[in-house]
Amino acid sequence: MAQAWNLIHRPKGLPTYTDFALRALDNRDLADGEVRIANRWLSVDPYMRGRMNDTKSYVPPFALGEPMTGGAVGEVIESRADTLPVGTRVQHMAGWRDEAILPADQAQRLPDGDIPMQAYLGALGMPGMTAWFGLLAVAEAKAGDTVFVSAAAGAVGSSVVQIAKAKGMTVIGSAGGADKVDWVRSLGADAVVDYKGDVPLVKALGEAAPDGIDVYFDNVGGDHFDAALAHANQNARFAVCGMIDGYNASEPVALRYLMRIISQRVRIRGFIVSDFLSRISEFHHGMGEIVASGRFQREETVVEGLDAMPDAFLGLFSGKNRGKMLVKL
Ligand code: NDP
Repeated sequence: MAQAWNLIHRPKGLPTYTDFALRALDNRDLADGEVRIANRWLSVDPYMRGRMNDTKSYVPPFALGEPMTGGAVGEVIESRADTLPVGTRVQHMAGWRDEAILPADQAQRLPDGDIPMQAYLGALGMPGMTAWFGLLAVAEAKAGDTVFVSAAAGAVGSSVVQIAKAKGMTVIGSAGGADKVDWVRSLGADAVVDYKGDVPLVKALGEAAPDGIDVYFDNVGGDHFDAALAHANQNARFAVCGMIDGYNASEPVALRYLMRIISQRVRIRGFIVSDFLSRISEFHHGMGEIVASGRFQREETVVEGLDAMPDAFLGLFSGKNRGKMLVKL
């Protein structure tokens, strides 16, 4: 019987297992134009935490007592749509469940070829596209720039590091713990700071970037944002992608270096990846070239089984993932 994770309470702070319930899905017949998809891989992403709050944002909140949604890839196992016959590999947004019934136009056929389907939930999908446009279009980063990227061992961050290196930039990453620091360095980063280490972040970043930073790609907010301000060069550009440090926080972090926005003429711009949907072919072309060069490392942290999906989601907030966090069904 098909099942889906429902949100049953709106979390306060870090979600707990009791905020979620795995419930049976209606196993109805297909209508004309619909397909039944066996999901093979499900995505968990930090933005889903925002959808658990009952607040107005760029996407509506998850409804209480209803299946949650999110990125997924799978295979059509029953079809009443000529465009997507049985066996087609597709990507769609009916995640958090093992089986989905969708109108065919809500599932996108994946390209044929050898690329594993879960790559389209990571570097070749939404997180990779976020990295691409955040770095190159929002921050307007270019060869010769010194780029600082936080959560550099994560899905978006590890793509930022590798795109920036492929484009001739100097890259400084931050990550939590020695293993992640070593891994980010292996991706090509010129320096990596361990924000969980003994050296305060502002000092560690100053040592890693003695000539300052031109670009900050923010995935974390809080003290990372502050440290980036502390070392921002004149006319630095900040692409504000995410602020995971604040997603479960009850208290704001004080920004001691805020006024440097003025003296350094820092340009700060937030963005949502969907702002760039009309330019998706630029990403496919550019990222395709980097991947085809053989220099791109695609890393996944895999949690097995639908039952364990809340573990995978919660693991994002304690750094359990290296690269893209995925659930394999
Ligand atoms: P990640 O794969 O980077 O996973 C989250 C990582 O964040 C963890 O592994 C952990 O790494 C780090 N982290 C968690 N809590 C904290 C904290 N309190 N302080 C510092 N680091 C923390 O996730 P994604 O790559 O999917 O997303 C990265 C960011 O980009 C998120 O903020 C997300 O919301 C945002 N995003 C925004 C999009 C947009 O359109 N604007 C689209 C996609 C993502 P570590 O072990 O190093 O601490």
